Amino acid sequence: MQTHFSSEQFLLQGTPFYYYDIALLDATLAEIKRCIESDAHWHVHYAVKANANPTILSHIAHAELGADCVSGGEIEAAIAAGIPASRIVYAGVGKSDWEIEIGLKHNISCFNVESVEELQVINELATRRNIVARVAFRINPNVDAHTHEKITTGLSENKFGIDMCDMEEAIYLAQSLSHVEYIGLHFHIGSQILDNEPFRQLCLRINELQERLEKSNIYTPNINVGGGLGINYEDPDAESIPNFESYFRTFREALQLREGQQLHFELGRSIVAQCGSLISRVLYIKKGHTKQFLILDASMTELVRPAMYGAFHKVQRISIENETTVLEKKDSIYDVVGPVCESSDVFVKNYSLPSCERGDLIAIRSAGAYGESMASTYNLRPLPSSLLG
Ligand SMILES: *Cc1c(COP(=O)(O)O)cnc(C)c1O
Repeated sequence: MQTHFSSEQFLLQGTPFYYYDIALLDATLAEIKRCIESDAHWHVHYAVKANANPTILSHIAHAELGADCVSGGEIEAAIAAGIPASRIVYAGVGKSDWEIEIGLKHNISCFNVESVEELQVINELATRRNIVARVAFRINPNVDAHTHEKITTGLSENKFGIDMCDMEEAIYLAQSLSHVEYIGLHFHIGSQILDNEPFRQLCLRINELQERLEKSNIYTPNINVGGGLGINYEDPDAESIPNFESYFRTFREALQLREGQQLHFELGRSIVAQCGSLISRVLYIKKGHTKQFLILDASMTELVRPAMYGAFHKVQRISIENETTVLEKKDSIYDVVGPVCESSDVFVKNYSLPSCERGDLIAIRSAGAYGESMASTYNLRPLPSSLLG
């Protein structure tokens, strides 16, 4: 499925703004549904941090996905969008008391607990409410996701999760506490993972851990394998829907589930990245001595991924014009930059585009995940608006 930009529709909207191709989002959700239809014990939770735009969340709620939240605010946003608390899981190394209270108040399906210290606090707060909180432990599986160092989370030296060798002790502690119930294991190895091998390694590690737990007579009703499936940033139209089929097949083949066990996934980027583009206008074309700068009205405050992770996004000129003028336009090489007072406010360097003019519309592609949700008001810039197509 290719995203078509109707730039006539865009002319009325002040730039920069996020454009979401909702037909593509729905097609992506339908593909996920198709892939897991035959597995009644499989559940997909959308990782809300990837994009919490209310319209996007409501489409996801409509597709009957659950939500994977990492803050009290996300739990409330998921519930407001119509995702039932019974499908909400909550992870995070530093859950504040008020955030845990939100989870308890709504009786969410599971707290993914990252330390025994946190477990004690959840037990304490649940005791005060006289309820029992369901908990899973996030275990650090020490699997290398072979992804960017800033988005790898499953290696031992990482702040996330509980070390594998402390797993039994944490479970025994949960079993000894009156107001928490141990219901599962949780894992998340990283993000933008394009090769299924790390996921297979994760499955093998889970199989090992399960055998270990069985020797200690510990039954684990839920296994949560996290998210992390990557997308094609280089050529979004060639692969607008990620290969969910082969991703899910990896788990079907490598993970040994026990009788009655439920399997949970937490996908974020792969669901929403390709449906979003950041639409911007060319402000100036500044000619340096050795370079040309294409200065946009969009910046790192709308889309921080290039500045923060060195991430690549395809940049496209989408202005309307008749075909002959397009053919006449030769390509030029630009550094595509934003107006913010930071040298890192660069979208892409030495990039070839049809020659641009002031006022041209530019689409920065694959920006549906970790784009709008990471926007800031640095330089007192307004938060970006969005347009749904
Ligand atoms: C961010 C996150 C996800 C989603 O990761 P994606 O790479 O966007 O799929 C899933 N689970 C947890 C615990 C996360 O922190």
